[in-house]
Amino acid sequence: MNAVSKLDSEDHELRDARCPKCNASAFLNGADLYYESAGRLEDDPNAPDEVRAAGMTDRQIVVRLRPPRRKSALWPAVLVALPLAVGGFFVYRRYGQGIGEFAFVAAFLVTLTVFMTWLRRYSDQYYDRRKRWRALHVCSRCGQLVA
Ligand SMILES: [Zn+2]
Repeated sequence: MNAVSKLDSEDHELRDARCPKCNASAFLNGADLYYESAGRLEDDPNAPDEVRAAGMTDRQIVVRLRPPRRKSALWPAVLVALPLAVGGFFVYRRYGQGIGEFAFVAAFLVTLTVFMTWLRRYSDQYYDRRKRWRALHVCSRCGQLVA
């Protein structure tokens, strides 16, 4: 957690910007708000709700400004692996061990390729979404999100 917040601590100031909703010019960094509220909720999960910033309570802040999550490439791989395994089993039953083993190896290689492809894709998506999340600002008067 600490390593992450340190990595993230580069400045994303909004200069000369106006809130599209209320025309205010004071903004708070969304990620900073999230970390502060998440920290307070962790320290004292039963604290009564209290408006902290931009008209939101800690609980509203952590829901609204939640950071993006990395998706797992395991599910696309499993979705491909299951029918291939069934297919490999039929090949094995019909053509015997030699060709059957070949079918299983081929199924494994296809699954591995799918896994690596989605791993790369999800990693790129996660990086983009995280970058946008880091640049998110909140109008300190009305709570409007500004990218
Ligand atoms: Zn505003």
